[in-house]
Amino acid sequence: MRLLKGIFMLSILLITIELQAQTVSPVNTITAAVLQKHINYLASDALLGRRVPTPAGDSAAAYVRREFISYGLKPVNGSYYQDVPWGKENNKKIFHNVVGFLEGSDPVLKKEILIIGAHYDHVGPYKSKNFPQDSIFNGADDNASGTAGVMALAKAFTLMNDRPKRSILFIAFGGEELGLVGSTYYCNNPLFPLENTVAMLNMDMISRNAPDLLYIVASKKSPELKAINEKENEKIGMRLEYNQDVFINSSDHAPFLNKKVPAIFFFTGVNKVLHSPKDEADTIDSGKAEKIARLVFYNALFIANDSNHYKVVN
Ligand SMILES: [Zn+2]
Repeated sequence: MRLLKGIFMLSILLITIELQAQTVSPVNTITAAVLQKHINYLASDALLGRRVPTPAGDSAAAYVRREFISYGLKPVNGSYYQDVPWGKENNKKIFHNVVGFLEGSDPVLKKEILIIGAHYDHVGPYKSKNFPQDSIFNGADDNASGTAGVMALAKAFTLMNDRPKRSILFIAFGGEELGLVGSTYYCNNPLFPLENTVAMLNMDMISRNAPDLLYIVASKKSPELKAINEKENEKIGMRLEYNQDVFINSSDHAPFLNKKVPAIFFFTGVNKVLHSPKDEADTIDSGKAEKIARLVFYNALFIANDSNHYKVVN
């Protein structure tokens, strides 16, 4: 009798665990706590502001690489790093774009690639008379927040029972702060043909300003992506604004648009602490970052299961 009761209790326990496993939907693994954890690490003083090419910048890249590996994303051409040369001809240094690949489930559509990207680098320690006490520009919002978003989305997609039809390439770019160097290098040396790259979604600064405000940049050039985002936003309810296209050339979506890959830029706007030692992890709005990262997830899920092709409009 005791044994029977034990077996009964064990069955209940297993059924409960099974039900829980099914009910935690992948998008719900994208949480403020997860994003804050990544941001805390990337924007810590130990990483010195993640300038590339420096050892601290390499530490940030290595962190993203370890995360991609732990989720089960695949390398491309045998590596999670795309090496980007930088510097004068006689003193070339290398920094990395970090890549992780999730192959699509459809035998035809898996040849088509969706890119979800964000830059992990920032501007590193600066000597400035304005900030004599603290010279580390932590770059929590710019752009540990977007990088955290890429990692959280990567994890969520690898947890899906039904993988999306199209393939997804997650990229944490280096060298954005040097002038979009990593993303420009990618576009000139793409790991998958750009003609098969259906869209690029860029997150750069997703965790400051009014809690419900989200700017979508490049919506005029990518009207189909704008429409998809508006539909998916019904699940999230951000207040979408389109009046920040002055930043259309200011982040990693730009080289893709220039190569006619449709792209939109998720952005919460400039703020007083941008590019200062005060862009620190303990003042970002991780709840807002959660909403935006989930919105980008829904966009990506739609695009990766779509069979339509989108265009860049001039
Ligand atoms: Zn940035």
